[in-house]
Amino acid sequence: MQLTDYIRTIPDFPKPGISYKDITPLLINHKACEFAVSELVKGLKGQHIDKVVGIESRGFLFGMLLAQTLGIGFVPIRKPKKLPAKTLSQAYDLEYGSDTIEIHKDAIQKGERLLLHDDLLATGGTAAAACQLLEKLGGEIVQVNFIIELDFLEGRKHLPKAKVNSLIHY
Ligand code: IMP
Repeated sequence: MQLTDYIRTIPDFPKPGISYKDITPLLINHKACEFAVSELVKGLKGQHIDKVVGIESRGFLFGMLLAQTLGIGFVPIRKPKKLPAKTLSQAYDLEYGSDTIEIHKDAIQKGERLLLHDDLLATGGTAAAACQLLEKLGGEIVQVNFIIELDFLEGRKHLPKAKVNSLIHY
């Protein structure tokens, strides 16, 4: 199966000059989703994972499927003011301005082995901020995985300590 057949590029979204990679054709096809999950699991090479952490919002889609497939729990990292209990926040720079993500303080126990997942790696700012949150809570990041990686943006450079695995490279 060719996963690239299930990704479409939308020009000038969300603003002129941006080629947006859209995973909704993949979500519509359950066999392709099953294949994507099995390939992500294969990339873990049997390493023990305690929890999957997914980044809002598209990281929740396959993050939760991965957690269910691995038989472990799922932890959401969310945009500010969405999580109801005590949170830890991490700000990060965007091309213009900055953004913040949050996690529940009690979601991760010290020493837990974590898989961080998001749909797409672009500049790496979001995933790097998520790694900082997990490290502050004492988690051990075993791998960071993505459906898509935009190689030309070199987002991996912002994840120097992490093992990064992406199914599709553009
Ligand atoms: P980064 O922080 O620049 O690596 O951006 C990654 C974040 O932006 C992820 O949470 C993605 O969901 C989102 N993102 C950036 N570009 C795209 C795209 O082309 N398609 C879907 N999501 C994108």
